[in-house]
Amino acid sequence: MPSAPEAPPCLLCGRRTVLLYPSNVPNGAPIESSELACTSPHLSVHDDIFTCHGCGLARAEPPGGVSEIEESYRDVHDKLYRASEPERREDFRRAIEGIERHPFVSRGTLLEIGSSVGLFLDEATKRGWKATGIEPSRWASEQAAAMGLTVFNGMLDEFEAESASFDVVASWDVWEHVQDPLHSLKRAHGLLKPGGLLALTTVNMGGFMARVMRGRWPWFMRMHLHYFTRKSLAEMVRRAGFEVLGMSTQSKTLKLGYVVERASKILGPLGGPAHKATGWLGLHDRRVRINFGDILLIEARKPESAA
Ligand SMILES: [Zn+2]
Repeated sequence: MPSAPEAPPCLLCGRRTVLLYPSNVPNGAPIESSELACTSPHLSVHDDIFTCHGCGLARAEPPGGVSEIEESYRDVHDKLYRASEPERREDFRRAIEGIERHPFVSRGTLLEIGSSVGLFLDEATKRGWKATGIEPSRWASEQAAAMGLTVFNGMLDEFEAESASFDVVASWDVWEHVQDPLHSLKRAHGLLKPGGLLALTTVNMGGFMARVMRGRWPWFMRMHLHYFTRKSLAEMVRRAGFEVLGMSTQSKTLKLGYVVERASKILGPLGGPAHKATGWLGLHDRRVRINFGDILLIEARKPESAA
Protein backbone atom coordinates (compact mmCIF):
# COMPACT_ATOMS: atom_id res chain seq x y z
CA MET A 1 0.00 0.00 0.00
CA PRO A 2 1.46 3.43 -0.90
CA SER A 3 2.26 5.53 2.14
CA ALA A 4 0.21 8.70 2.69
CA PRO A 5 2.01 11.93 1.79
CA GLU A 6 3.71 13.47 4.80
CA ALA A 7 1.68 16.35 6.22
CA PRO A 8 3.71 19.57 6.54
CA PRO A 9 3.18 21.72 9.67
CA CYS A 10 0.98 24.82 9.30
CA LEU A 11 2.93 27.87 8.20
CA LEU A 12 0.74 30.12 10.31
CA CYS A 13 0.09 28.34 13.60
CA GLY A 14 2.56 25.42 13.44
CA ARG A 15 -0.10 22.78 14.07
CA ARG A 16 -0.24 19.52 12.14
CA THR A 17 -2.05 19.59 8.83
CA VAL A 18 -4.10 16.86 7.15
CA LEU A 19 -4.51 15.87 3.52
CA LEU A 20 -7.84 17.38 2.44
CA TYR A 21 -7.91 16.80 -1.33
CA PRO A 22 -5.43 14.40 -2.93
CA SER A 23 -3.78 15.41 -6.19
CA ASN A 24 -5.89 14.97 -9.34
CA VAL A 25 -3.02 15.73 -11.73
CA PRO A 26 -3.01 13.12 -14.52
CA ASN A 27 0.03 10.84 -14.11
CA GLY A 28 1.66 13.33 -11.75
CA ALA A 29 2.73 15.43 -14.78
CA PRO A 30 5.17 18.26 -14.04
CA ILE A 31 3.73 21.79 -14.02
CA GLU A 32 3.92 23.66 -17.35
CA SER A 33 4.58 27.40 -17.65
CA SER A 34 1.18 27.82 -19.38
CA GLU A 35 -0.42 26.80 -16.07
CA LEU A 36 1.05 29.88 -14.39
CA ALA A 37 -0.63 32.53 -16.55
CA CYS A 38 -3.49 34.57 -15.01
CA THR A 39 -5.82 33.30 -17.72
CA SER A 40 -4.73 29.66 -17.36
CA PRO A 41 -7.57 27.32 -18.37
CA HIS A 42 -6.33 24.56 -16.02
CA LEU A 43 -9.12 24.99 -13.46
CA SER A 44 -9.84 22.36 -10.78
CA VAL A 45 -6.49 20.62 -11.40
CA HIS A 46 -4.38 20.53 -8.27
CA ASP A 47 -1.58 18.81 -6.38
CA ASP A 48 -2.12 17.44 -2.85
CA ILE A 49 -3.88 20.05 -0.71
CA PHE A 50 -3.34 19.99 3.04
CA THR A 51 -5.35 21.98 5.55
CA CYS A 52 -4.83 23.04 9.15
CA HIS A 53 -7.69 22.33 11.52
CA GLY A 54 -6.36 25.00 13.86
CA CYS A 55 -6.47 28.11 11.67
CA GLY A 56 -7.94 26.89 8.37
CA LEU A 57 -4.95 27.77 6.18
CA ALA A 58 -4.52 25.31 3.31
CA ARG A 59 -1.48 24.73 1.16
CA ALA A 60 -0.60 22.77 -1.94
CA GLU A 61 2.35 20.41 -1.99
CA PRO A 62 3.65 20.16 -5.57
CA PRO A 63 5.86 17.08 -5.95
CA GLY A 64 8.74 19.18 -7.33
CA GLY A 65 8.60 21.74 -4.48
CA VAL A 66 7.47 25.34 -4.74
CA SER A 67 10.71 27.21 -5.52
CA GLU A 68 10.65 26.08 -9.14
CA ILE A 69 7.10 27.38 -9.58
CA GLU A 70 7.99 30.80 -8.19
CA GLU A 71 11.02 31.00 -10.50
CA SER A 72 8.87 30.09 -13.53
CA TYR A 73 6.82 33.30 -13.12
CA ARG A 74 9.77 35.18 -14.62
CA ASP A 75 9.05 33.50 -17.98
CA VAL A 76 5.26 33.91 -18.03
CA HIS A 77 3.66 35.37 -21.17
CA ASP A 78 -0.09 35.92 -20.98
CA LYS A 79 -1.35 37.33 -24.26
CA LEU A 80 -4.98 36.54 -23.33
CA TYR A 81 -4.78 38.92 -20.36
CA ARG A 82 -4.71 41.93 -22.69
CA ALA A 83 -7.93 40.73 -24.35
CA SER A 84 -9.81 41.43 -21.12
CA GLU A 85 -8.27 44.87 -20.56
CA PRO A 86 -11.52 46.94 -20.44
CA GLU A 87 -13.09 44.66 -17.79
CA ARG A 88 -9.91 44.59 -15.72
CA ARG A 89 -9.54 48.37 -15.88
CA GLU A 90 -13.14 48.72 -14.66
CA ASP A 91 -12.34 46.56 -11.61
CA PHE A 92 -9.07 48.38 -10.96
CA ARG A 93 -10.83 51.77 -11.06
CA ARG A 94 -13.23 50.42 -8.47
CA ALA A 95 -10.28 49.14 -6.42
CA ILE A 96 -8.44 52.46 -6.36
CA GLU A 97 -11.69 54.27 -5.49
CA GLY A 98 -12.11 51.83 -2.61
CA ILE A 99 -8.64 52.68 -1.33
CA GLU A 100 -9.32 56.42 -1.57
CA ARG A 101 -12.54 56.03 0.43
CA HIS A 102 -10.55 55.73 3.67
CA PRO A 103 -10.42 59.16 5.34
CA PHE A 104 -6.78 58.67 6.43
CA VAL A 105 -5.60 57.94 2.85
CA SER A 106 -4.44 60.75 0.60
CA ARG A 107 -3.01 60.24 -2.89
CA GLY A 108 0.66 59.64 -2.31
CA THR A 109 3.01 56.73 -2.94
CA LEU A 110 1.56 53.35 -3.81
CA LEU A 111 3.24 49.98 -4.30
CA GLU A 112 1.52 47.17 -6.15
CA ILE A 113 2.94 43.68 -5.54
CA GLY A 114 2.34 41.58 -8.67
CA SER A 115 1.53 44.39 -11.10
CA SER A 116 1.30 42.23 -14.26
CA VAL A 117 1.07 44.42 -17.39
CA GLY A 118 0.39 47.54 -15.27
CA LEU A 119 -3.33 48.17 -15.69
CA PHE A 120 -3.93 48.95 -12.00
CA LEU A 121 -0.76 51.08 -11.84
CA ASP A 122 -1.99 52.99 -14.88
CA GLU A 123 -5.42 53.64 -13.36
CA ALA A 124 -3.81 54.77 -10.09
CA THR A 125 -1.32 57.01 -11.90
CA LYS A 126 -4.17 58.68 -13.83
CA ARG A 127 -5.75 59.60 -10.49
CA GLY A 128 -2.60 61.26 -9.22
CA TRP A 129 -0.85 58.45 -7.35
CA LYS A 130 2.91 57.98 -7.55
CA ALA A 131 2.65 54.27 -8.28
CA THR A 132 5.36 51.60 -8.43
CA GLY A 133 4.92 47.94 -9.33
CA ILE A 134 6.80 44.74 -8.58
CA GLU A 135 6.40 42.01 -11.17
CA PRO A 136 8.42 38.82 -11.77
CA SER A 137 7.37 38.29 -15.43
CA ARG A 138 9.79 39.98 -17.82
CA TRP A 139 7.14 40.11 -20.52
CA ALA A 140 4.54 41.77 -18.26
CA SER A 141 7.08 44.27 -16.86
CA GLU A 142 8.04 45.31 -20.39
CA GLN A 143 4.37 45.89 -21.22
CA ALA A 144 4.03 48.15 -18.19
CA ALA A 145 7.27 50.00 -18.92
CA ALA A 146 6.01 50.64 -22.47
CA MET A 147 3.07 52.53 -20.90
CA GLY A 148 5.60 54.70 -19.05
CA LEU A 149 4.95 53.04 -15.68
CA THR A 150 7.53 52.42 -12.95
CA VAL A 151 7.97 48.68 -12.46
CA PHE A 152 10.65 46.65 -10.74
CA ASN A 153 11.07 43.37 -12.64
CA GLY A 154 11.76 40.75 -9.99
CA MET A 155 10.52 39.21 -6.75
CA LEU A 156 9.40 41.11 -3.65
CA ASP A 157 12.51 39.95 -1.78
CA GLU A 158 14.75 41.37 -4.50
CA PHE A 159 13.07 44.79 -4.41
CA GLU A 160 15.26 47.40 -2.79
CA ALA A 161 13.45 50.40 -1.37
CA GLU A 162 13.75 52.49 1.73
CA SER A 163 11.64 51.02 4.50
CA ALA A 164 8.43 52.86 5.42
CA SER A 165 8.33 54.66 2.07
CA PHE A 166 4.82 53.84 0.77
CA ASP A 167 1.40 55.18 1.80
CA VAL A 168 -0.40 52.18 0.31
CA VAL A 169 0.55 48.61 -0.57
CA ALA A 170 -1.93 46.85 -2.85
CA SER A 171 -1.92 43.35 -4.29
CA TRP A 172 -4.67 41.78 -6.38
CA ASP A 173 -5.11 38.01 -6.67
CA VAL A 174 -1.45 37.35 -5.89
CA TRP A 175 -1.30 36.05 -2.32
CA GLU A 176 -2.47 32.55 -3.24
CA HIS A 177 0.59 32.29 -5.54
CA VAL A 178 3.15 33.28 -2.91
CA GLN A 179 5.56 30.71 -1.50
CA ASP A 180 5.68 32.18 2.03
CA PRO A 181 2.76 34.59 2.39
CA LEU A 182 3.50 35.47 6.03
CA HIS A 183 7.07 36.44 5.18
CA SER A 184 5.83 38.53 2.21
CA LEU A 185 3.24 40.28 4.40
CA LYS A 186 5.95 41.22 6.89
CA ARG A 187 7.99 42.63 4.01
CA ALA A 188 4.94 44.64 2.86
CA HIS A 189 4.56 45.90 6.44
CA GLY A 190 8.17 47.06 6.41
CA LEU A 191 7.69 48.98 3.17
CA LEU A 192 4.56 50.78 4.41
CA LYS A 193 4.68 54.06 6.31
CA PRO A 194 3.22 53.92 9.83
CA GLY A 195 -0.54 54.47 9.44
CA GLY A 196 -0.40 53.22 5.82
CA LEU A 197 -2.99 50.98 4.17
CA LEU A 198 -2.66 47.41 2.95
CA ALA A 199 -5.34 46.20 0.50
CA LEU A 200 -5.18 42.74 -0.97
CA THR A 201 -7.44 40.17 -2.55
CA THR A 202 -7.07 36.40 -2.63
CA VAL A 203 -9.25 33.37 -3.36
CA ASN A 204 -11.65 32.39 -0.57
CA MET A 205 -11.61 28.72 0.31
CA GLY A 206 -14.18 29.31 3.06
CA GLY A 207 -16.85 30.53 0.64
CA PHE A 208 -20.04 28.73 -0.33
CA MET A 209 -18.73 27.62 -3.76
CA ALA A 210 -15.57 26.07 -2.35
CA ARG A 211 -17.49 24.21 0.33
CA VAL A 212 -20.06 22.85 -2.12
CA MET A 213 -17.68 21.97 -4.95
CA ARG A 214 -14.96 20.56 -2.65
CA GLY A 215 -12.01 19.17 -4.67
CA ARG A 216 -13.60 20.35 -7.93
CA TRP A 217 -13.63 24.04 -6.98
CA PRO A 218 -12.24 25.87 -10.04
CA TRP A 219 -9.70 27.94 -8.03
CA PHE A 220 -7.88 24.80 -6.97
CA MET A 221 -5.11 25.25 -9.52
CA ARG A 222 -1.51 24.12 -9.55
CA MET A 223 -0.23 27.70 -9.52
CA HIS A 224 -2.03 28.39 -6.25
CA LEU A 225 0.16 27.43 -3.30
CA HIS A 226 -1.99 28.75 -0.41
CA TYR A 227 -5.72 28.98 0.14
CA PHE A 228 -7.25 31.28 2.74
CA THR A 229 -10.47 31.61 4.66
CA ARG A 230 -11.62 34.80 6.38
CA LYS A 231 -10.16 33.49 9.63
CA SER A 232 -6.74 32.45 8.33
CA LEU A 233 -6.31 35.58 6.21
CA ALA A 234 -7.15 37.90 9.11
CA GLU A 235 -4.88 35.92 11.43
CA MET A 236 -1.95 36.09 9.03
CA VAL A 237 -2.37 39.82 8.40
CA ARG A 238 -2.50 40.45 12.16
CA ARG A 239 0.54 38.28 12.72
CA ALA A 240 2.47 40.39 10.20
CA GLY A 241 1.79 43.44 12.41
CA PHE A 242 -1.33 44.99 10.85
CA GLU A 243 -4.67 46.06 12.33
CA VAL A 244 -7.48 44.58 10.25
CA LEU A 245 -9.96 47.25 9.13
CA GLY A 246 -12.39 45.03 7.27
CA MET A 247 -13.02 42.15 4.93
CA SER A 248 -15.52 41.66 2.13
CA THR A 249 -16.05 39.53 -0.95
CA GLN A 250 -15.16 41.07 -4.29
CA SER A 251 -17.03 41.11 -7.56
CA LYS A 252 -15.25 40.71 -10.88
CA THR A 253 -16.23 42.22 -14.21
CA LEU A 254 -16.08 39.64 -17.00
CA LYS A 255 -17.36 39.17 -20.53
CA LEU A 256 -20.30 36.77 -20.57
CA GLY A 257 -18.68 34.69 -23.34
CA TYR A 258 -15.60 34.22 -21.17
CA VAL A 259 -17.67 33.22 -18.14
CA VAL A 260 -19.63 30.63 -20.12
CA GLU A 261 -16.49 29.25 -21.72
CA ARG A 262 -14.69 28.91 -18.35
CA ALA A 263 -17.82 27.44 -16.76
CA SER A 264 -18.28 24.87 -19.52
CA LYS A 265 -16.07 22.37 -17.71
CA ILE A 266 -18.30 22.59 -14.66
CA LEU A 267 -21.54 22.55 -16.70
CA GLY A 268 -20.45 19.31 -18.39
CA PRO A 269 -22.60 18.46 -21.42
CA LEU A 270 -24.51 21.76 -21.03
CA GLY A 271 -21.30 23.77 -21.53
CA GLY A 272 -21.13 23.66 -25.35
CA PRO A 273 -24.82 24.57 -25.96
CA ALA A 274 -24.65 27.36 -23.33
CA HIS A 275 -21.65 28.90 -25.09
CA LYS A 276 -23.36 28.63 -28.49
CA ALA A 277 -26.62 30.11 -27.15
CA THR A 278 -24.93 33.19 -25.67
CA GLY A 279 -23.09 33.55 -29.02
CA TRP A 280 -26.33 33.42 -31.03
CA LEU A 281 -27.86 36.01 -28.74
CA GLY A 282 -24.85 38.27 -29.34
CA LEU A 283 -24.09 38.29 -25.62
CA HIS A 284 -20.43 37.17 -25.63
CA ASP A 285 -19.16 40.72 -25.25
CA ARG A 286 -21.74 41.73 -22.65
CA ARG A 287 -19.94 42.75 -19.44
CA VAL A 288 -21.27 41.24 -16.24
CA ARG A 289 -20.26 41.74 -12.62
CA ILE A 290 -20.05 38.48 -10.76
CA ASN A 291 -19.64 37.79 -7.07
CA PHE A 292 -19.68 34.13 -6.04
CA GLY A 293 -17.99 34.97 -2.74
CA ASP A 294 -14.82 33.38 -4.14
CA ILE A 295 -12.57 36.43 -3.81
CA LEU A 296 -11.81 38.00 -0.43
CA LEU A 297 -10.68 41.60 -0.02
CA ILE A 298 -8.89 42.47 3.20
CA GLU A 299 -7.98 46.01 4.19
CA ALA A 300 -5.58 46.56 7.04
CA ARG A 301 -3.53 49.37 8.52
CA LYS A 302 0.00 49.50 9.82
CA PRO A 303 -0.32 51.00 13.30
CA GLU A 304 0.88 54.61 13.63
CA SER A 305 3.15 53.45 16.42
CA ALA A 306 4.82 50.70 14.31
CA ALA A 307 8.44 51.03 13.24
ZN1 LIG B 1 -2.75 26.67 11.20
